Amino acid sequence: MKRLEGKAAIVTGAARGIGLEIAMAFAAEGASVAVADLDGADSTAAAEAITARTGAKTLGLGLDVSKEADCDRAIEDTAKAFGKVDILVNNAGITKDNLVLRMKAEDFDSVISVNLKGSFLMAKAASRLMLKARTGRIINISSVVGQSGQAGQANYSASKAGLIGLTKSLAREFAPRQVLVNAVAPGFIRTRMTEGLKDEAKAKISEMIPLGRMGEPGEVAKAALFLAGEDSAYITGQVLAVNGGLYM
Ligand code: NAP
Repeated sequence: MKRLEGKAAIVTGAARGIGLEIAMAFAAEGASVAVADLDGADSTAAAEAITARTGAKTLGLGLDVSKEADCDRAIEDTAKAFGKVDILVNNAGITKDNLVLRMKAEDFDSVISVNLKGSFLMAKAASRLMLKARTGRIINISSVVGQSGQAGQANYSASKAGLIGLTKSLAREFAPRQVLVNAVAPGFIRTRMTEGLKDEAKAKISEMIPLGRMGEPGEVAKAALFLAGEDSAYITGQVLAVNGGLYM
């Protein structure tokens, strides 16, 4: 039996990168998956690719997670298509890096708005259904820099640290209804977000990582799959680091 047979999931920021790998992994394990990303056409293309590869039922949705009405609509559309929402992965995220003295207040706001408020809005919308159903999983994609801090990323690391606080609070609030909330904290993963780094910076980063290399999106997807399935039924409010030992 597949690990997510009969489950319905929505993954934000799933048109590419880590989100796409998570959506693909869930579909391969039998889940119906809504691919929700900023660009509706990209979401639909990714959803079609997932169905072609896995045969799973999918849905492509355009949304901006920083907008409450978009989040409410995405959850409604997913429930309409699949009959329920069992799993939410808050993966959509952006960076607007700069040293604090040069960081514009609006660049602080926009990163918090997508990475942190967006996850709150999606969790709020999904929890209406999950709390009623007395079952559900919410997985928030945080980051190693939310745990360690990072020069040049005050906005991003604050948003990702905030996501850990949000995860723990939601976990406590939703536990009585068997809705489990956990975070995954990836280290440096090879996606568009990190491909802009110069080779020299990548080599330096790899030297700092005990396992000696950057991670792959599929390696983060496996952690999300664990937290979405029955193998993690007694785990809530936790942060699962997928960072090659970079931060312990
Ligand atoms: P990515 O390739 O840039 O993918 C992020 C996706 O989120 C993109 O498709 C993007 O859409 C979408 N998105 C951006 N703003 C959105 C919004 N307001 N509403 C809906 N979707 C939005 O990044 P990634 O590396 O896969 O990262 C995925 C998650 O992992 C992020 O939360 C990131 O912070 C986290 N993470 C990544 C790493 C890493 O090393 N890569 C490490 C730790 C944590 P557009 O392409 O249209 O902008």
